[in-house]
Amino acid sequence: MNHPISVLVNLPVHAKISGPLTYYHPEPLQSGTLVRVPFGKSEVLGVVWSAQAEQIKLGVDQFDDETTHKETERILKPISSVIEGIQALDKKWLDLVAFASGYYQRSLGEMALQALPPQLRDLDANQITRRLKKNASQNKLFTTQSPSVKIADDGPIHPSPYYPPYPLTNEQLEAVQVIEGQSGPFLIFGNTGSGKTEVYMHCVQSTLLRDPNAQILVMVPEINLTPQLEQRFKSRFAHLAENYGTNSVVCMHSGMTPAQRLQAWLAAHSGQARIILGTRMSIFASLPFLKLIVVDEEHDPSYKQQEGARYSARDLAVYRAKQLDIKVILGSATPSLESWHHAQINQDSPQPSKYQLIGMPSRIGQASMPKVQIIDLNLQPRGTVFSIQLLDAIKLRVQRGEQVLVLLNRRGYAPVLHCQDCDWKSACLHCSAFRVFHKMDRTLRCHHCGVVERVPRHCPSCGNADISPLGKGTEQLEELLGLLLADVRQPNGQPLNIMRIDADSTRLKGTLNQQLAQVHSGEVNILVGTQMIAKGHDFRKITLVAALYPDTALFSSDFRAPERLFSLLLQAAGRAGRDANLTSGVTSEMWIQTQYPDHPLFDALRHYDYPQFANQQLLERAQANLPPFSFQALIRADAKTQSDAQLFLNTAAEQASIVINEIKSRRAHTNASWLEIVPTLYPAIPMTMQRIANIERSQMLIECNSRMMMQEFLKHWQAHLQELQPRFKGLIRWIVDVDPLTI
Ligand code: ADP
Ligand code: ZN
Ligand code: ZN
Repeated sequence: MNHPISVLVNLPVHAKISGPLTYYHPEPLQSGTLVRVPFGKSEVLGVVWSAQAEQIKLGVDQFDDETTHKETERILKPISSVIEGIQALDKKWLDLVAFASGYYQRSLGEMALQALPPQLRDLDANQITRRLKKNASQNKLFTTQSPSVKIADDGPIHPSPYYPPYPLTNEQLEAVQVIEGQSGPFLIFGNTGSGKTEVYMHCVQSTLLRDPNAQILVMVPEINLTPQLEQRFKSRFAHLAENYGTNSVVCMHSGMTPAQRLQAWLAAHSGQARIILGTRMSIFASLPFLKLIVVDEEHDPSYKQQEGARYSARDLAVYRAKQLDIKVILGSATPSLESWHHAQINQDSPQPSKYQLIGMPSRIGQASMPKVQIIDLNLQPRGTVFSIQLLDAIKLRVQRGEQVLVLLNRRGYAPVLHCQDCDWKSACLHCSAFRVFHKMDRTLRCHHCGVVERVPRHCPSCGNADISPLGKGTEQLEELLGLLLADVRQPNGQPLNIMRIDADSTRLKGTLNQQLAQVHSGEVNILVGTQMIAKGHDFRKITLVAALYPDTALFSSDFRAPERLFSLLLQAAGRAGRDANLTSGVTSEMWIQTQYPDHPLFDALRHYDYPQFANQQLLERAQANLPPFSFQALIRADAKTQSDAQLFLNTAAEQASIVINEIKSRRAHTNASWLEIVPTLYPAIPMTMQRIANIERSQMLIECNSRMMMQEFLKHWQAHLQELQPRFKGLIRWIVDVDPLTI
């Protein structure tokens, strides 16, 4: 007898049907089972949503009736195959996906299928079976027998085969105690080098001691940071590999090959992987025995997915921990203002803070944070790139064999090429941006649409041969430093070795690691780069960090720009003075050249006073009713013309008032106070980057003081918008971004 089965498939965005599809199968299937189903002209991967189809489109719910049965088979299609050898995804995983789909306004099927590794989607059932066999022969299989790790008698914290090579500091011990003793979520506010990672490892260890089958998810923001962390965890937890095979510690990030990703996913899903280190995507890993989540550098914007389903992996981590009743540890030297706010105790409220704050102010075995030197560019000759003071300081360092890091967040040689005669500028024809001059290969490149062209010999507009670069990029800094320091020698008498690391220098796979190795070995004297080098890397010999033009962020239209700048500068400062042996007796320095030396941000930075900065920002945000005091969503429309885009958004705004009234009348009988709080819709405006690759972009901001109301509103509005869409011919796409990070 055939059974109706509802199945999630990866439906195209904004498809008419957004729920599961119904198929039939001779046997009932457990929800979470992976299947292949016919869809359109092809066969695709599906996830069984529920064994009993929730809504059968035929209007039948009786399945033992012979005629309906026949009728069903006539209309429904059968499931093509069931993927054998992979356990069904568990209920908690399905719940996570369902929550994310609702919260971030995407279809359930899209959310679920995107959360699975690409090969699982692309391989057919036979190929997957073969892959499973291969994996099984390569690795020790996961067994549910009790593992051979001995659980220590005297408590979970102390003895173990993987005790750290040094005793924990008092700060670390206190942090561990708080985490062990309370329920969290925890926010560790600790400088770089304060020993946070050691605390994470300690908690991982005690979790595994309590339950050898436990799984721990440790998230990091950048792929580039995973190798270091992987090495650290693998060596500390080497005994895991002895007991459970090489897949006991796995990584998950987009830099892995599809085959590696599938293997890591299977290791996690089967329970074999105990420690999972990953970037934001790993939040959706199937982890049936998940017992602890760590989100390192929790403030990092890369936790927010910027395309497709725009989820925040950090926020989902907090949700997932709550859902499973497990602990989650967020860590940062500059927590996001959202998390910082959640961790503050409100004097006027009897409620405890939402997050538990754990402070770890000291840097272990490292010199104190570098001394901040601020150069007022107003007092420098016009056009100064390196002030005399900064140049002298750099010379002094490199002559002593110390390393210097110069940070400029703009790659290429110059952001614009310019003709002084007719004022022509190297605008991109397809975007509202300038093409950047790259001197190395003499190209003009648009960093938005990717168009590359050779640099013209003459001004394309007036024929003048004298076209010149305006502004500075990393490539030019590298060149300029070479000229300015041509006479300076390393202690061994050799000329200086200046290296640039940015997206251009590292385009080829493997170059970044090569370049980093050269920095670590000490071969490089001066490192010039973008924010890519400011994060995480453990450069031991850097004693001077210089940030050249940080000012644009101070007056950005994006209210989060100062927060990001502060965090970047503090991270960059954290690159200096990491080696106490090298720097004993030597103060390391952080130089900032700015036109606004008195700005409160720099004042807070001078004392490395993140709380001062954060509290001042929170005050401003409270006054302006910005997040975390309100909730935001963005609706963005891409269209052939700006007016097409705005027309759609304006019509959407009209629909919004209808939706709000509907919600009010539907709930009129309840007296929930949040119903009074309705979303505010701002006028549709062109985005700051108005045009990319000939597509006009427009956006509308929605703000609401109640998260619940916002969710309720978005859910119903979304349905209206889907109906609206076909009426707008010029519209290319529209998306909703919930809790957007950039406005
Ligand atoms: P964070 O993650 O906060 O940057 P880490 O945990 O990486 O800090 O610690 C910084 C450095 O200090 C590392 O080299 C680490 O090995 C070392 N370290 C951490 N804890 C201790 C300790 N208790 N005693 C000695 N060294 C430590
Ligand atoms: Zn010209
Ligand atoms: Zn372009």
